[in-house]
Amino acid sequence: RKETMKFIQICSLFLFYIYTLCKKLYFFMKNSNKIYDLVVIGAGSGGVRAARISASYGATVAVIEEDRPGGTCVLRGCIPKKLMVYASEFNKQMSDAKKYGWKIDECSHDWDLLNKSLKEELDRLAGIYDNILKNSGCKIIKGVANFISPTRVKVNDNVIEGKKILIATGGHSWIPDISGVKEHAITSNEALKLPKLPKNISILGSGYIAIEFAFIFRGFGSNVNLIYRSDLPLRGFDNEIRGCLEKELLNKGIKIYPKTKIKKVSKNSKLDIELDDGRILSSDELLVATGRKANTDNLKLENIGVEISHDRSILVNENSRTNIETVFAIGDVTDRINLTPVALGEGHAFADREFGNKLRFFEYDNVPCAVFSQPPVSSVGLTEEEAVNQGISCEIYTSNFKPLKNTISGNTEKSFMKLIVRKEDNVVIGAHMIGSDAPEIMQSIAIAVKAKLKKSDFDLTVGIHPSAAEEFVTMRSQRD
Ligand code: NDP
Repeated sequence: RKETMKFIQICSLFLFYIYTLCKKLYFFMKNSNKIYDLVVIGAGSGGVRAARISASYGATVAVIEEDRPGGTCVLRGCIPKKLMVYASEFNKQMSDAKKYGWKIDECSHDWDLLNKSLKEELDRLAGIYDNILKNSGCKIIKGVANFISPTRVKVNDNVIEGKKILIATGGHSWIPDISGVKEHAITSNEALKLPKLPKNISILGSGYIAIEFAFIFRGFGSNVNLIYRSDLPLRGFDNEIRGCLEKELLNKGIKIYPKTKIKKVSKNSKLDIELDDGRILSSDELLVATGRKANTDNLKLENIGVEISHDRSILVNENSRTNIETVFAIGDVTDRINLTPVALGEGHAFADREFGNKLRFFEYDNVPCAVFSQPPVSSVGLTEEEAVNQGISCEIYTSNFKPLKNTISGNTEKSFMKLIVRKEDNVVIGAHMIGSDAPEIMQSIAIAVKAKLKKSDFDLTVGIHPSAAEEFVTMRSQRD
């Protein structure tokens, strides 16, 4: 009887062993043969949106990401940058508060604590993005993807297959080839987590990133040099706004070097930055913000012949489809309008079209934007220069004022607003602002511009008093 029991025990163990082996084999076979409906490369804002919405329509989705989910905006861009803007503004706010009667005796800043708080918040957000993907049923695969066929990519020696593949790999900072710059300069990635506040920082460029960081570091008390090759900062924005921004840079004590280039950089105890007019600036850090380039280098697009532009961004049609039937691309990697809400919109429209049976396209006209300078700039629609270049006859309305809050505080920051109105039909085709709360105000104005409302509709709208926003509905006389 004992022997029979032992025999049964051995048989059970053997059967259990065979069962476990078969189960493992089954899952291995299932996964190795799995063909996803969609494989997304890149878990940034656009990729995550496309993955989540596609999965909600019942698609099986795999998302390949080498880093944590979140992408540039969440981990190295918009979010940490905006938190840094908030952090740097308290200095000014405390000084404003004094004339309102607040006694602030001691005021100092703890850079390590700020870095710690930022890290905690970014960890939290990356976790949220991770959960969004998991909860929507997407499989997350960590690694770098490269194409081996139009429907297959290789990740860490595994082959992942999808009926459709969406590239959403974003972009990276581009550094110009100037002697010593690549070796000694930092980009926005490093600027967001410097171990200590630089006493002196020079910044090359005058686009979004350069301008935002110039004000951030100045807010914390650094001496800031802003070096740029154009005559006014923020090329592409309305010229009057650019002029106001230049005044605000000077007003804050930021040293500007317009129409200037860097000739070379060398390191002694500090960085010596030689300008093309012979002047030498001495700085603790040099931040280069000269634009971004698409992340296409690791994808091995050449293996399947995906067409790319001269600057290596991916060429797509209005469906975000490349020249290869099964391969799509959205967001900064396509270098259309490089803003998070655009990538989100492109990703959502892609998922709707490809898996939701909805023929929906992202609209690229009247995309509002903001530069978080201090005060911020925000715009929607055409600039005056664009309207003139397109031969549109316009009426221009402007308002230039000192915000009520600054009357008592003595803060010299001003606000400027501008409406571009098409003469032919009275439609507002552009709205621009520099001043406190500009992005918050412009988001609503963008609805009116998108809806092609007329200046007469603005005039009929009752203002909210006292507010800065009411200026947009009370501008009555045209600029000469
Ligand atoms: P931008 O394209 O905004 O600005 C690039 C700047 O670098 C310009 O001032 C440009 O000068 C200058 N530049 C380019 N090449 C050279 C060179 N060889 N030598 C000297 N200067 C040069 O790029 P950013 O890096 O500031 O930002 C990248 C993108 O990130 C933006 O386009 C935007 O889409 C996005 N972004 C959006 C933000 C937001 O929405 N708030 C915030 C940050 C970034 P010039 O004008 O003369 O060409």
